[in-house]
Amino acid sequence: MTTVFHRAPRATLPVAVAGDGIEIIDSNGRRYIDACGGAAVSCLGHSNQRVIDAIKRQAQKLPYAHTSFFTTDIAEELADRLVDAAPKGLGHVYFVSGGSEAIEAALKLARQYFVEKGQPERRHFIARRQSYHGNTLGALAIGGNAWRREPFLPILIEAHHVTPCYAYREQCAGETEEAFAQRLADELEAKILELGPDSVAAFVAETVVGATAGAVPPVREYFRKIREVCDKYGVLLILDEIMSGMGRTGYLFACEEDGISPDILTIAKGLGAGYQAIGATLVSDEIYNIIVAGSGFFQHGHTYIGHATACAAALEVQRVIAEDRLLDNVKARGEQLRSLLRGHYADHPFVGDVRGRGLFVGVELVQNRDTKAPFDPQKKLNSVVKSEAMKRGLMVYPMGGTVDGNQGDHILIAPPFICTEQQIETIVGRLTDAVDAALSSIGASATR
Ligand code: PLP
Repeated sequence: MTTVFHRAPRATLPVAVAGDGIEIIDSNGRRYIDACGGAAVSCLGHSNQRVIDAIKRQAQKLPYAHTSFFTTDIAEELADRLVDAAPKGLGHVYFVSGGSEAIEAALKLARQYFVEKGQPERRHFIARRQSYHGNTLGALAIGGNAWRREPFLPILIEAHHVTPCYAYREQCAGETEEAFAQRLADELEAKILELGPDSVAAFVAETVVGATAGAVPPVREYFRKIREVCDKYGVLLILDEIMSGMGRTGYLFACEEDGISPDILTIAKGLGAGYQAIGATLVSDEIYNIIVAGSGFFQHGHTYIGHATACAAALEVQRVIAEDRLLDNVKARGEQLRSLLRGHYADHPFVGDVRGRGLFVGVELVQNRDTKAPFDPQKKLNSVVKSEAMKRGLMVYPMGGTVDGNQGDHILIAPPFICTEQQIETIVGRLTDAVDAALSSIGASATR
């Protein structure tokens, strides 16, 4: 019997009792390699002593001070550090406690900015199908995952969705990347014109799509073109790097690789690396200045914003990433991971695509590689892969609904940045075994 209201109350979960490097140990002493960082969170593994000590030091000194009374040195220092590394123009940081809160803050900031700027008619948000921005009502409304939204549709704010930059499924045969990116930018422009250019507040996108479609990177030039469209109509660009940011792609901010700066950028997950619950919304100087010169305050706030102990953890995570040159490891191990998977799956009849950036990798499973037809969702292939992987002492993050929120299966792999070459080999070995076992258990073990 449990009194915890678990995510899936009918399932029986193992009890996690300890962490050791990239592994979690359960109450039976079984070890699981955490090859997904939970949900792309635990980027330093589960026992980083420096981060643990930093939390202890801060808790001993001052665990928490409410932000309507005080600021703290630790929050100031973390904000300075993030701003120094952030894409151009993002000069201020609003700290929250997680990803959905960071998105809620982003949406309200965008709206308040336009109200204070004298453009109160700007109220529409445009995002992309097959996206995920969180589970609170505002974030869920913006997100484009049909299955997650469906039961709550009558209570969601209005949001508009355009085609994602999902090359494996959306790029036409014979279409160049450049033409594909242009087509998507044209679609965004058409949507802005349809809604009325003066009524659109922001376009929201994950720089690299995470959970809903499985580490889908944009094609080159996509975000440059999107930025141009936003600029043309005075629409804010909000990038959600809650999963893809903070080093996951090999860059502290994923959009560095795309050569653009958004107006608002959200981070969480890897920011606190799972040692503390923390997220943040980075804001352009233009937005900040309008609000400071106008009402003088952001009409928002939660009890735990700028939590001192959470900031101490996040600051130490940042130091470890920099001092141990972990972004270099993310790039190298990411290349290794993708190349091992691509090699192994080169002729596999049921693996349609291996993609990603850095240690943020997606494997899409298909019933027919030529037609890209997905498996019957009733077979719940993604859940079977998850349990087969767990049996082999491996945590990965498989998900269904890859294609349209209902059909399709993919596996998200997001190991800690501290992974060694040998550990990546072990992950690939266990994963490929688990995938074969799962395929065979749903009757898809075609001869290769
Ligand atoms: N945005 C993205 C891209 C995410 O991946 C997530 C979580 O998976 C969220 C937002 C929501 O974050 P949280 O679960 O911390 O509220």
